Amino acid sequence: MEAKTIMRTILALIALAAVATPQNSPVGYSDTPVIPGQKWKVHDIDRVHPRQVTPGIDGKPPSDAVVLFDGKDLSKWDNVKNGKVVPAAWKVENGYMEVTPGAGILTSKDKFGTAQYHVEWASPTEIKGNSQGRGNSGFFLMQKYEIQVLDAWNNLTYADGQASALYGQWPPLVNPARRPGEWNTYDILFEAPKFERDKVVKPAYVTVLFNGVVTHHHQELIGRTIHRQIGRYETHGPEEPIDLQDHGDKVRYRNIWVRRIGGYDQP
Ligand code: MG
Repeated sequence: MEAKTIMRTILALIALAAVATPQNSPVGYSDTPVIPGQKWKVHDIDRVHPRQVTPGIDGKPPSDAVVLFDGKDLSKWDNVKNGKVVPAAWKVENGYMEVTPGAGILTSKDKFGTAQYHVEWASPTEIKGNSQGRGNSGFFLMQKYEIQVLDAWNNLTYADGQASALYGQWPPLVNPARRPGEWNTYDILFEAPKFERDKVVKPAYVTVLFNGVVTHHHQELIGRTIHRQIGRYETHGPEEPIDLQDHGDKVRYRNIWVRRIGGYDQP
């Protein structure tokens, strides 16, 4: 073998050995500076690791979600009719529930506040009425803050009342609504307001993805959402039920789940 060939072979073997040798990569450090505002160092070897969550496929609930409606029954809900809590009576069929006009608001038995919310809805296929009278319902966070549900396909109405509006306060940034009868999704990140005695010390903030498109980005609410009025904050608990509005239109809902948002460094 020529010297050149021998040298090439030796170099090739060295390269192969370098690839084959497992690298001993550190899994953390204890000699790094403390991150400003935190008790942890950069890449802190002792920092709490996030718990494992199995993500859902195609909008289905992640493993740690509280599932409020899986298409089968309304066991997690009541109706509120004429101010009274009564057993849930909205129609359930084919994996969805449908607003049953006159049965009243649907209200969750569990309470939620600062959380990630997922809900899917569809306007009635048959187009009836106009403006706020067409496919109207609503997803009320804490029973007070309405993310509007409305047929927004070629349906002229006031901007702060169309689908995904923070009703009476902010129109959606854009309108990515699907046609009547097609399923829409809302993915909502909500920060509940904070109260001290009867004063609001931190307002509520809402981020909404409507069919995967951002329609509100950390938007501050000025208070409750009310028809033709300026809503103000009224003291309530850190968690309150979710309401789905009965506005007289047969809007459908499916796949409703919630994940409470915890803090960092919680095992
Ligand atoms: Mg509504």
